[in-house]
Amino acid sequence: MEHLFSYYTQVTFLSFIIINHLFEVYLSRRQVAALERHRSEVPQEFAADLSLADHQRAISYATAKLRLGQWKLCWEAGLLLYWFPLRGAEKLYVAVPFVDLHKEVAFLVAFTAVQMVINIPWAVYGTFVLEERFGFNRSTPRLFILDRLKGIALGALFGIPLLYVLFFVFVTTGRWWWVVAFLVLTGFQLFLVWLYPTLIAPLFNKFTPIEGAELKDKIEALVRRAGFNAREIFVMDASRRSSHGNAYFTGFGKNKRVVFFDTLLRDLKTGEVLAILAHELGHMKLRHIPKSLLTSLCLSFLGFWLMGELAHQNWFYAGHFIRAVSPGVLFLLFTQALSVYTFWPGPLGSWISRRREFEADAYAAQEARPEDLISGLLRLYRENASPVVTDRLYSFFYHSHPPALERIRRLESFVKGQARERLP
Ligand SMILES: [Zn+2]
Repeated sequence: MEHLFSYYTQVTFLSFIIINHLFEVYLSRRQVAALERHRSEVPQEFAADLSLADHQRAISYATAKLRLGQWKLCWEAGLLLYWFPLRGAEKLYVAVPFVDLHKEVAFLVAFTAVQMVINIPWAVYGTFVLEERFGFNRSTPRLFILDRLKGIALGALFGIPLLYVLFFVFVTTGRWWWVVAFLVLTGFQLFLVWLYPTLIAPLFNKFTPIEGAELKDKIEALVRRAGFNAREIFVMDASRRSSHGNAYFTGFGKNKRVVFFDTLLRDLKTGEVLAILAHELGHMKLRHIPKSLLTSLCLSFLGFWLMGELAHQNWFYAGHFIRAVSPGVLFLLFTQALSVYTFWPGPLGSWISRRREFEADAYAAQEARPEDLISGLLRLYRENASPVVTDRLYSFFYHSHPPALERIRRLESFVKGQARERLP
């Protein structure tokens, strides 16, 4: 019976790897086709703000990334096939020395190290060939290597002790180990989110309080109206690595902040900066960070419960092509193999994220001028060479932000609404 169960799991797992791969390549090809269809003409809504040359540059950049992405999808599917159906992970587990907890930790460290090393060529190509070709890359080989080394040091510093604690919990707390492990991991994650803005991000970039007297006054007024502290607005030297512009919000409690890329500030007018800041403040005001934290907590609790159920089921391990029943293997299966099943509910997350973008836009439209947000966004699309057209199905699966056209149309309805309010 158990043998039959593991056999069916193997068939299911293999089918998922192959079907997901084919489907993702299909989505990517749809997106390339949709972009190419629009190459000869700027959509009418954007004709006034976007030159044909900029539009075509965005399409060339996006299709180059998608085509590289298709090769990467093949590579990733091949790796999954190697690690699991071809038993690479099992071989690695057997080959790793040490015993007990040390073996479990060493196995995961070895797996992570191998994955990292074999994926370096993709990062090098992406940064120094693709981004370079479109004039976005500012990174140097030295900075690139330094970034990787810092990442490894941080991963080892936080990751290895965490693994020891988790495995210790696994072997010592009996039936309810998964509840304790969930609590440990959650506490650790909250600690990292809290630590990130003030201690981790500054290892990679310089953060300075935003400058310029007029801008500063206006920003402070806007931030105070939203109920936040102006000390929480920073400029980051993103131009060290890339000329892409962006803004983001991060952290919680006393540690939360809004961060502007210096590249963004250079390109935008004052009104546009304020409108984009209002959008980011909208995310904070509407509690999008605590909300997504809560969602991921629930999902993680569910995941740990499932781990508790599956931890000692031989068919589960054998069903994913590893015969060793061990906590290290269990963690590997949950972090690597099970993503083939969670691919399908993925669009739900993207949908929630797109809805939150609309909410933040609506907030920004009240607190700043919606026409400034429109022109700021259009400038961002142009400077970042993001195409303003997309395939609907592709966008449905992957995009965390609404398609340009929908976003601008909604903002325009705010502009019209305000115009009506201004009438006597
Ligand atoms: Zn946003």
